[in-house]
Amino acid sequence: MPSVTRCVQRAFKCRFYPTPEQADLLNRTFGCVRKVYNLALEARTTAWFQRRERINYNATSAMLTGWKKTEDLAYLNEVSCVPLQQALRHLQGAFTVFFDKRAGYPRFKSKHKSRASAEFTASAFRFRDGRLTLAKMTDPLHIIWSRPLPVGQVPSTVTVSRDAAGRWWVSLLCQDTITPLPVSGNAVGVDAGLNHLVTLSTGEKVTNPRHERADRDRLARAQRNLARKQKGSANRAKARVQVARIHARIADRRRDYLHKLSTRLVRENQTLVIEDLTVRNMVKNHTLARAISDAGWRELRTMLEYKAGWYGRDLVVVDRWFPSSKTCSACGALAEKMPLNVRKWRCRCGVVHDRDVNAARNILAAGLAVTACGAGVRPQRDSSRTGRSAVKQEHPRATKGIPALPDGEDVKEAPFAVAESDSVAPGRGARRRPGVLSS
Ligand SMILES: [Zn+2]
Repeated sequence: MPSVTRCVQRAFKCRFYPTPEQADLLNRTFGCVRKVYNLALEARTTAWFQRRERINYNATSAMLTGWKKTEDLAYLNEVSCVPLQQALRHLQGAFTVFFDKRAGYPRFKSKHKSRASAEFTASAFRFRDGRLTLAKMTDPLHIIWSRPLPVGQVPSTVTVSRDAAGRWWVSLLCQDTITPLPVSGNAVGVDAGLNHLVTLSTGEKVTNPRHERADRDRLARAQRNLARKQKGSANRAKARVQVARIHARIADRRRDYLHKLSTRLVRENQTLVIEDLTVRNMVKNHTLARAISDAGWRELRTMLEYKAGWYGRDLVVVDRWFPSSKTCSACGALAEKMPLNVRKWRCRCGVVHDRDVNAARNILAAGLAVTACGAGVRPQRDSSRTGRSAVKQEHPRATKGIPALPDGEDVKEAPFAVAESDSVAPGRGARRRPGVLSS
């Protein structure tokens, strides 16, 4: 891949400290955004379920004009109209992914549970000499620039938000230029775990950061404290902020850690193979540790996806039904059972495996098999044979430069042909039940 710079859209998120007047206006803006979103959602829902009518974005936009003229909703005029329009666009987006069957039906925004945010497009802010002034405000926001914007860039969109811990954020969407990394010959398989954050096919185990245990204890303590407070009391409100602050701290430290890890993995390897873990999340397990681990994995995957795209790396996502823990990475034999407490096991061929490293090696082998046979699709199960729906492809696979087979070409069994090269017919591994595969 040639090393030419490429232009990408990149958001720069910084904290800012509003004046009391600015905070008041923004809080009212958040309220209006939520109100407009909920009104439009209600209108679209009743129109469909009562009259089988579809209301599109333009129709909701006309409704907004009407709402502003009513006495009850006159307060919508006090804030900038742009975030309100954007809320309708966001609702349209929510319906689009719903109609594409990529998400559930849009839900109402809640004052306490939804993120308080407002999106301003270019007509609703002024950005001059590094100072950002929003519509209906006289003074620029006091932003703490944690990193400089790309030179000469003016943001196209600005999103202001307030998190549950009471912190204010501004996210500026800019054009940025990225230079892809020089091509490397390395490939790595990444397995997600509970005891270790990830295990690599190289045998390296990336542990969870040491502060995480302490953070978790603090969180549990704060949650117990919150549970003891009387509903509606001032002390309860204080305790809730305390819980939110600890959540925020955990999320911040974790994100920082994952950024460093994902950058390192993308820097060191040309091909990265990960497993689609959707099925693992379907296996119900409601522990705090599991929830945090799952959230962390999703976040890491997102980072790997966009960073691989930026720097010209190939990210391969292998099938969610692939028995990575039970297959011997040396001979390809399939172990009968692999309970979760088995950390080390010996295959019939004599090789002793660390459970996680073995899984990571199998993931790598499966991923390389896909790229080697030139498949432009991830390995999939045959839905007609199993009665289960085929795996949905969530993002364009980063296998640029590799010729893709024409549609309908059968590449589904490729990884299993490699993993089970000897005696077993290709495809047998694919028919295993999912329940026993999760590790
Ligand atoms: Zn073996």
